[in-house]
Amino acid sequence: MKKKSILRMALVAALGLFLTGCSQSSKKSSSSDTVHGKVSLVATDTIIGDIAKNVAKDHADIHVIVPTGQDPHEYDPLPEDVSKSAKADLIFYNGLNLENAKNAWFTKMQNNIGEKAKKKSFAASEGVDAIHLEGKGQTNKEDPHAWLNLENGIIYAKNIAKQLERVDPKHKDDYKKNLDKYVAKLHKLDVQAKNKFNKIPKNKKLIVTSEGCFKYFSKAYNVPSAYIWEINTEVEGSPDQIKTLVRKLKKTKVSSLFVESSVSSKPMKTVSRDAGIPIYSTLFTDSIAKKGQTGDSYYGMMKWNLDKIAEGLAK
Ligand SMILES: [Zn+2]
Repeated sequence: MKKKSILRMALVAALGLFLTGCSQSSKKSSSSDTVHGKVSLVATDTIIGDIAKNVAKDHADIHVIVPTGQDPHEYDPLPEDVSKSAKADLIFYNGLNLENAKNAWFTKMQNNIGEKAKKKSFAASEGVDAIHLEGKGQTNKEDPHAWLNLENGIIYAKNIAKQLERVDPKHKDDYKKNLDKYVAKLHKLDVQAKNKFNKIPKNKKLIVTSEGCFKYFSKAYNVPSAYIWEINTEVEGSPDQIKTLVRKLKKTKVSSLFVESSVSSKPMKTVSRDAGIPIYSTLFTDSIAKKGQTGDSYYGMMKWNLDKIAEGLAK
């Protein structure tokens, strides 16, 4: 029953928004021809949505498709997501094989709304130095988790600002000002992180998570990583995957394991029991934290991750 009522609510919400939009746009005109006199922006996940919020501030209405705490690799858009995307001025997706593979949910939605030409859709990750998957037969596929390196987060913010300036040139100065301030904040955290990880002894440096999402992070902060499964579109936590990781961990001096907020903690609990290493903390990798909790922004989740990983590894 739940799904049906959610669908109905979403349809009603979409219609309501359309009607409010119509009445407001007649009062206020905008250079970008938007419903609220604001740029109507859709982001596929909470991380991109939060970066966009920091750049756009009050000049955009932002709709995030994949809800907080859910897995953006696999998702079923609701009618509200589809209708908002169809009407949006800008759609930002991650790209790099997160939601834009040939049969992935975002590609299907794009086709449904006739966005095949992709004139208003942009990969926030455009221009990052892509790292590829390492699993058998997967090495031609990109690893999507580029945002876990703050330098890439800065590239995301710049890409988003560039498109906002293009569709809403009236507020160009504001976007530039917001971007500069935000980039400075992310950069400062990035420098702190690099200093912090330099101080941890080499034999203690290994980030162990359920999904192998730390490749970009590992490269940026010089801390290797290990995982149960490589990417959330695979089998998650098979006995073989668990055994392989436990065997690897028994040869190390690692003192802490981690588990991501957007996956089941069950497989990592099994690893923890079998390897005799405690789970130190939850990390935010594919979603920010729930509103009002520590980590409820891209900056906040990165700060949390950096702090918790450094603490856990130093134990
Ligand atoms: Zn992931």
